[in-house]
Amino acid sequence: MAGEERIKYLADAVRYHRELYYNHSAPEISDAEFDALWDELKDLDPNNAVLHEVGPEPLPGTEKVEHMFPMRSLDKGTSDDDIIHFVTQSTFGGKRYLAQPKLDGSALSLEYVAGNLYRAATRGSGERGEDVTLNAKLVANVPTRLNSPVDCHVRGEVVMPLAVFEEKYRDISPNPRNLCSGALRQKHGDGKADASDLVFCAYDVKFPNESPDTVNDSELLSWLQGVGIEPAPWEIFSSETPQKEMIEYTSKWGAKRATYEYEIDGIVFKLDNLEQRENLGMTAHHPRWALAWKFPSQEAHSVLLGVDWQTGRTGAVTPVARIAPQMVGGVTVENVTLHNVGEVERLGIKIGDKVKITRRGDVIPKIIENLGEASLSDMQNRYHADGRKFSAELSVQRIQIPKDCPACGRNLVMKGAFLRCMSLECDARTARALTYWCRTLEMDGIGEKLIEALLDNGLVKTIADLYRLSHS
Ligand SMILES: [Zn+2]
Repeated sequence: MAGEERIKYLADAVRYHRELYYNHSAPEISDAEFDALWDELKDLDPNNAVLHEVGPEPLPGTEKVEHMFPMRSLDKGTSDDDIIHFVTQSTFGGKRYLAQPKLDGSALSLEYVAGNLYRAATRGSGERGEDVTLNAKLVANVPTRLNSPVDCHVRGEVVMPLAVFEEKYRDISPNPRNLCSGALRQKHGDGKADASDLVFCAYDVKFPNESPDTVNDSELLSWLQGVGIEPAPWEIFSSETPQKEMIEYTSKWGAKRATYEYEIDGIVFKLDNLEQRENLGMTAHHPRWALAWKFPSQEAHSVLLGVDWQTGRTGAVTPVARIAPQMVGGVTVENVTLHNVGEVERLGIKIGDKVKITRRGDVIPKIIENLGEASLSDMQNRYHADGRKFSAELSVQRIQIPKDCPACGRNLVMKGAFLRCMSLECDARTARALTYWCRTLEMDGIGEKLIEALLDNGLVKTIADLYRLSHS
């Protein structure tokens, strides 16, 4: 019974967070946390329907597009063994595999009719996406006309170059991926990212009528280049033991990942021969001829320096840990999430403790282990962000759990593992709820700054007040 309740909880959580991620571009948890929910559900109930939906249906009111060729999700793996298993169960006839880095952006389908861009759509539920033609046309390398008058559906990922993200968007989003789907789906200029800052990288093409005469998928990638569309880089493995080279390829990209121009979160492997793919077919959920291999989590050690408490939209007060700056996966990390009070207690963590942190496919890292009191050597050669060296001794202190809301000063209440501000008038709750409301309704021109100004001036206290505002 407890198991069934847990399954229901996990299924609801996956659906809820996926909705925020796909339809609102406003995730509340990191990828790693989402993956943990997903993996646990997969262990407990592998056939749960939630696991086999690609994403939620598009928002009501947006123009929907039925995908002539469904955009399916792929089977996932994270270990060398997953690659070996994939090769063993998919190889027959020839051994020839195509590999491409798995770009971390937003999936896009481009439909060309007689060589002209007719329509562009998001992945959506996989069967049905959202029409984003106008914004897709702004993506710099999406041609409105191909070099050949063909009918085809090109699939790929829109990504934001990390250099552009750092320069223009670092302050408004924790990672470039969230901006990609927002930029594709936004109404004219709502202050998020410009679609013109995105780049399209193709990985697949389908033909509703005649198709080029090809044996392998990689020939179609070359064909795409010929008609004017750039695929993500690819490589072919066709030795007697391709799994060996494929594993080496994941290490190569693992090392290259930190300095690559786009965020990637793994490698996609596919059988290259199109006829063999047909023969292998699908399980109930995934094609048998492809594997989406994700990089294992990235870990490092640091020292806990302090904890800040923040009130969120739902009133949950969450601890954010400040740590000695530490490189993880090519990024310097100074703030990491501690989730909730329950997690602080579970880890039994104190200020001055050495901690293990992880960052997996997302910019928001977290503490996963308490390694006990930091020693002198743990503090050596550590620097503040401004270059000052840390003083060697750090006194160990208990983490003070606040009694009052950091935003409104009212008393906090413990609910399960969470500390909550129950006041509906809490400034933090109101500001975030208003921002969220405006974003959900895609109200133009109302951003966080304006909402703060309205709250500061007492013009707005609740969502309903938004509708009572007048020009004066
Ligand atoms: Zn409060």
